[in-house]
Amino acid sequence: MDLQRFNHELFEFLKFSTSPFHAVQYLSTLFLKSGFTKLEEKDRWQTTPGKGYFCVRDDGSLLVFKLSGTKQENDCWRMLAAHTDSPSLQIKPQPVTTSNTFTQLGVEVYGGPILSTWFDRDLSIAGRVSLLDQENNIHSRTIDFKQPLAIIPNLAIHLNREVNDKYSIKRQKHLLPLLCQTEDDDYSFHDTLLQQVQEEHDDLKGIKLLGFDLFCYDTQAPSITGLHGDFISASRLDNLVSCFIGTKSMLEETSGNCLLLCSNHEEIGSSTVAGAQGNFLTTVLERLEADASKRMRMLSNSSLISMDNAHGLHPNFPEKHDPQHLPLLNKGPVIKYNANQRYASTSKSAALFKVLCDASGTPVQEFVMHNDLRCGSTIGPIAATSLGIQTVDVGIPSLAMHSIRETTGVKDPYMLFKAISRFLTCTNLPGAGA
Ligand SMILES: [Zn+2]
Repeated sequence: MDLQRFNHELFEFLKFSTSPFHAVQYLSTLFLKSGFTKLEEKDRWQTTPGKGYFCVRDDGSLLVFKLSGTKQENDCWRMLAAHTDSPSLQIKPQPVTTSNTFTQLGVEVYGGPILSTWFDRDLSIAGRVSLLDQENNIHSRTIDFKQPLAIIPNLAIHLNREVNDKYSIKRQKHLLPLLCQTEDDDYSFHDTLLQQVQEEHDDLKGIKLLGFDLFCYDTQAPSITGLHGDFISASRLDNLVSCFIGTKSMLEETSGNCLLLCSNHEEIGSSTVAGAQGNFLTTVLERLEADASKRMRMLSNSSLISMDNAHGLHPNFPEKHDPQHLPLLNKGPVIKYNANQRYASTSKSAALFKVLCDASGTPVQEFVMHNDLRCGSTIGPIAATSLGIQTVDVGIPSLAMHSIRETTGVKDPYMLFKAISRFLTCTNLPGAGA
């Protein structure tokens, strides 16, 4: 697969994946089409060596694995991890307020978005709804309005002279998207949602809406930008790019036991039923190898590459980086280190990734946080802690992380894909767990 084709498919995925639930739905379809079998956690599993499977938890987390054709005592896992969620504005359960003819929606802030970037954008709404049918069964379904239907207008500069200097956004008061203008007070958001459900899911008749997990999103499509097409600009690059890279790599002709975890709720700390601190991964590994001693031996011989975007050097703010560690766009994936292990990389786990980059002809860069700034974290250390597995934290360099629209290099996703694909396909994995 070449760069253009890869980016085209990435953009199709980004466009569809307007919520974590949509991302999981899209990737599940790709795996089904490629012959993977869907497993339900509530069922008894019977797996066959050489085959691929996937499992979804709480609609927003996906775990995919492909079993080696041969089972040996020293088998190991080649594992990948990424996250499906992105910072956003989540609609409150009773969201509608009406004043001065305007109907607005109450929202909560999900994760840590750059709030100023959410103003004056053509927003739509997508996510999951819970429904009750006439036989008393509860169903979960995704919905996505796809059209612009809400906007959070800025206050005119003439009424807010300090907007460019010192202005703080009050989350409760300033963030309510405008939904419509009405003369009467009887607008029902509930009815709007039910109508959308009927449009997207005509298999459900006479249903009741019981609740929803819905998010606002920017309707602007991803684009390649820059005079020479050097950059990708899109929403939710953190961390849908990594989910896509993991998926494309799993869909290749892989070697050994391979596993990909795309988990929800990283942006809010991962301590949820579907998050990386939950037991999704550990329970699946237990089911696949019931013998605890053998499972431990396998894990100690395994490697995990945790993928999440890195902070590329912003040309307007070079002082925000350590001068010796300046990851540049289009110059290769970034290994992220932190002395306090906010990233799980060590010289040992990073060595494997360096070898993979070298073998796939991919340049590699290194990042540590400027000492005066607080370091973020990701799911690498969580997975490393719970599994006791050698883990390296890597990611594409990006700008404006957690903005409604983020930027990366046009070559960056593809370069990380080449290295990750090498990890899953090479027949003699260099020194894994040695
Ligand atoms: Zn992230």
